[in-house]
Amino acid sequence: MIKQVNNIKINRFFCLDEFECPCCHRVMLHLVLLRKLSALRQAIGRPLIISSGYRCKKENRRVHGVKTSYHLFGFAADVTVPSMKMSDLLKYAERIAFGGIGIYDNFLHLDIRPDPEFWDRRS
Ligand SMILES: [Zn+2]
Ligand SMILES: [Zn+2]
Repeated sequence: MIKQVNNIKINRFFCLDEFECPCCHRVMLHLVLLRKLSALRQAIGRPLIISSGYRCKKENRRVHGVKTSYHLFGFAADVTVPSMKMSDLLKYAERIAFGGIGIYDNFLHLDIRPDPEFWDRRS
């Protein structure tokens, strides 16, 4: 049963379950975030992996997310593209006008906060 929950194609690139919380299968996803991620996916022309989408509070604590994380509201996603360097993925993301962009060693955090912010947490 649980395998069928959120197994719904939401556009030509993504399925809803890619955004769900890994612990409880709950999901929130803002349409603007989906549109921006789709634009990014379109631009890079290869699979975009959502490594973290929506998180419930419990999951957010487990991954040591900040208390007010945009992941709690369906406003953020962490993404990777296998075989693409983070710095190259960043260049594509910067053209899409996300609100927040955070670069880490193995994923890019993207969100739709109102005031643009950028941070670099690479080691
Ligand atoms: Zn959860
Ligand atoms: Zn994130």
